[in-house]
Amino acid sequence: MDKKILLIIAQNGFRDEELLEPKKILKEAGFSVIVTSETKGKCIGSHGVEIESDISLNEINASEYVAAFIIGGPKSPLLMELDDVGIIMKDLKDSNKLFGAICLGPMVLASFDLIKGYAATVYKTEQSLSMFKEKNVSYVEDRIVIDRNLLTANGPLAAKEFGEKIVFLLNKNKEEYEGKRYKIIYHKKECIGAFACLAAEPKSWKQTDDKVDLIGAKVDVGEGDQVFVKEVDDLENNLEAAQCCPVNCIHIFDKKTRRKIL
Ligand code: SF4
Repeated sequence: MDKKILLIIAQNGFRDEELLEPKKILKEAGFSVIVTSETKGKCIGSHGVEIESDISLNEINASEYVAAFIIGGPKSPLLMELDDVGIIMKDLKDSNKLFGAICLGPMVLASFDLIKGYAATVYKTEQSLSMFKEKNVSYVEDRIVIDRNLLTANGPLAAKEFGEKIVFLLNKNKEEYEGKRYKIIYHKKECIGAFACLAAEPKSWKQTDDKVDLIGAKVDVGEGDQVFVKEVDDLENNLEAAQCCPVNCIHIFDKKTRRKIL
């Protein structure tokens, strides 16, 4: 089945290259790109490009998409007035899928209270910065900002990079979902040798001097030589082991839902 990505544009006054460049990159990467606007059909860019959108916003079933993005441009703030935009993006966000916006698009996400507590960039104007402040979004002055499953870019000059980042993040996520379901992460440096983990799950842990080892774990490259990772499909009693660790040095991550369980 095609992996579908949704691009949301203003009917008149989206920024041409912010739509066209990422769209081309996403298609070349093998994704199916669907463009939506308030009504299906003719849309005009702020620099004169004319395109036909594929579907109207009120016909979108968000669950069909692996990611969705709001394209910027001078009239993109008008998308704040369309409840369907908020509903679609909330669905993506709540499903832990990749979502985001470019240029003034992040303002639209902020207006629907979807990026409260996130770090994000936006095309810098008095209005966009004041919207971020009002909606508790941490503004970062950069071309591209990634925070959890949110990707934002600050304008047309970042359009190509925006498209490339979407491809990179979606392919990265695909790799994360592959393999075993859970990741057990053990910070050995913090272990105080209370051995509660060993008592809860003796098949996975073994005593080594004054600490424990997670049997079969590998050093987490990039995290230093005291962080160990083991991937498993069955947690057995490792959730209990992690819960009873007095210094919380065992963490469990569910790769499928992309949520940290503990
Ligand atoms: S419960 Fe935590 S502190 Fe105690 S031995 Fe296990 S990992 Fe170390």
